[in-house]
Amino acid sequence: MTIEANLKELRDRIATTCQRAGRPEDAVRLMAVSKVHPVEALLEAYAAGQRLFGENRVQEFEQKATGLGEARDLEMHLIGPLQSNKTNKAAELFSAIDTVDSLKIAQRLNKAAGELGKKLPVLIEVKLSHEESKHGLAPEELPDLVAQMSEMEHLVVRGLMTVPPWSEEAETARPYFRQLRTMRDEQQRRCETLVELSMGMSNDFEVGIEEGSTCVRIGTAIFGKRPYPA
Ligand SMILES: *Cc1c(COP(=O)(O)O)cnc(C)c1O
Repeated sequence: MTIEANLKELRDRIATTCQRAGRPEDAVRLMAVSKVHPVEALLEAYAAGQRLFGENRVQEFEQKATGLGEARDLEMHLIGPLQSNKTNKAAELFSAIDTVDSLKIAQRLNKAAGELGKKLPVLIEVKLSHEESKHGLAPEELPDLVAQMSEMEHLVVRGLMTVPPWSEEAETARPYFRQLRTMRDEQQRRCETLVELSMGMSNDFEVGIEEGSTCVRIGTAIFGKRPYPA
């Protein structure tokens, strides 16, 4: 299957799942995760109408960005872990940062966005499982970070993001997605811009949509298997 055909099939499946879940079809955005794949793959998706993308590494996208040519109106989010020495570059290159998980990173991004004269949309990544390898903020720290970040002039806290433990079985992710939604609902009462829920990947996005996802992050089902891990 071509990237274009994969995108079409995914848009259909997202629409069908929205219908089944009683949600409007435009309630869920499809993010194409192009990490590890060459810029040509990204451009193929762009040519098929895709505009929202996710990349995992600042440096990797910095290199790809030079090959984008006319495809300047894409919306590229950072969805991988951000080190504090890369915050300036990240604020400059990306349309949004979806993986803020500490006050330090938030402060640095706020400063960088201020210097660039932009207001940077961000998500807070929450770690809901106990796997060592996962990044993200501990749930009990969320209320304080939301309170502190709502005061930051150059950031807009748009929502929450999570990556559940990997599993073949999509249902395994459901309790994590449900928990993230509950946290979003609670925080939204105190911070009204906090509406987004980035949850669901190639193998579990339908469960994500049923549980309220507003953005599914899909790599493999669009671009095929990654030649090596990111
Ligand atoms: C790689 C990645 C994805 C996409 O995963 P697939 O299983 O290939 O769809 C989504 N979110 C994050 C944070 C990722 O690192």
